[in-house]
Amino acid sequence: MALLSATLTGSGRVSSLSARLTSCSRVYRHGGRAVFRSSARLSPGATAAAAAVSARTPLPQTPCFRLWRPVGPPVLLTRCGPRHIHTSGPLRALPAPLVWLLLKPLQKVLAVVLGRSIRKWWAALPPDRRQLARQAAWRNRWPLAAGATVVAAIAALFLLTHLDESPLTGRTRLLVFSRDNYMELAALATEDYLEEYAEQLVPADDPRHQLVERVVQHLAERNKDIPEMSSIPWNIHVIQDPNLNAFVLANGEVFMFSGMMETLADIHQLTFVLGHEMAHAILGHNAEQASLSHVVDLLSLILLTAIWAVCPRDSLAALGHWIQGKLVQLMFRRPYSRKLEAEADKIGMQLAAKACADVRAAPVFWQQMEIADQLRGEPTVPEWLSTHPSHRNRVTQMDRLVPQALELRERCGCPALRAADPRAVFSQSVRVLLDKDKAKDPRLHHLHPPPHPRRDAAAAALQAQPGAGA
Ligand SMILES: [Zn+2]
Repeated sequence: MALLSATLTGSGRVSSLSARLTSCSRVYRHGGRAVFRSSARLSPGATAAAAAVSARTPLPQTPCFRLWRPVGPPVLLTRCGPRHIHTSGPLRALPAPLVWLLLKPLQKVLAVVLGRSIRKWWAALPPDRRQLARQAAWRNRWPLAAGATVVAAIAALFLLTHLDESPLTGRTRLLVFSRDNYMELAALATEDYLEEYAEQLVPADDPRHQLVERVVQHLAERNKDIPEMSSIPWNIHVIQDPNLNAFVLANGEVFMFSGMMETLADIHQLTFVLGHEMAHAILGHNAEQASLSHVVDLLSLILLTAIWAVCPRDSLAALGHWIQGKLVQLMFRRPYSRKLEAEADKIGMQLAAKACADVRAAPVFWQQMEIADQLRGEPTVPEWLSTHPSHRNRVTQMDRLVPQALELRERCGCPALRAADPRAVFSQSVRVLLDKDKAKDPRLHHLHPPPHPRRDAAAAALQAQPGAGA
């Protein structure tokens, strides 16, 4: 696979990096939230070159070491992108997850109305009737406790019978909706997206479409030992749109925005990004997240009813409602989302390694995101408030995974990588750029490449080797 632009050394590249780092202002929307921000670009010319070189240079097809057990259910739905849910045609039955999503607001309203009605009813009772009600509750405490225990046991049984083993990782997780449910939902989403972007679809003979198709096919081919990967008929759609976005549906429909392609520095980063998105799909992350959301929502409805029943005034109940919603976000949804993102990063890197990509480009990608954020002066959101790991933590995680991924790459019979580590090259390039431009641009004074002893040592070694990294 061709290496396009990992070599950022050399004066031309450095000055070009400078221009890119200071000019890029677009944001990759991932899962409906801004995630990827990048500076370096894969120019149309480079893209075409990549397609041409890639076509001329077939990657080795040595069978890979079978890394993962073929366990778990088939692929479910995942999407990393704007999560617009549209209704289906009038004659088609709605998939269960979609029905649940449509009913969710109504359920919340019902919980509020029920809780508020209980409070009003209680407040309207005369004192003696309240006393009688308390006494009746105390007299029947054991039957009430038994009833609550039965309900809890049924709920526990439901959860236990819907546990599932995640493919590739073997992690135990909850899956409430079936694979067929999510395939139906993915088919509906595909129709909607194709309709929405009908005017912007890039023709199949466009070099960008061919490049994405080739990388996806290559990832699928090199990872065909994974049943979830080989069972999906991957299909490519490249959309002419500056939006920094890419996502893959459970049915294998890959949507890549041209804006996203232009932000990627090289074909290795493209392979990693596609590997990350395909990992979400083969791991069934969307079904998993929807299942957790389903259970948390049900529990929230009980809590919501209690809040509106117990709080003495509507204003206090509304405040409690708001706090409950935020706590659910911070304690369940966001940590779980971060966990799935980290898992997709890890598996995506393994997929890319088996596809012979230079996995050292993955941390560079996240470094680019971090620096671009700094240049844009965006406030740093604490990770615990975010749905995604911080760029810094992703760099750290990717760095930690690189040695393992390089071993996997070697076991798969991939050609040797060039000696210059893209991470060292990038660090060195950024350092040169900052030293050069600090005096000119006061915004750069607070910037610095992320500290990393191993990478810094590699950069120093690189400097000691004239011509290295070219
Ligand atoms: Zn993701």
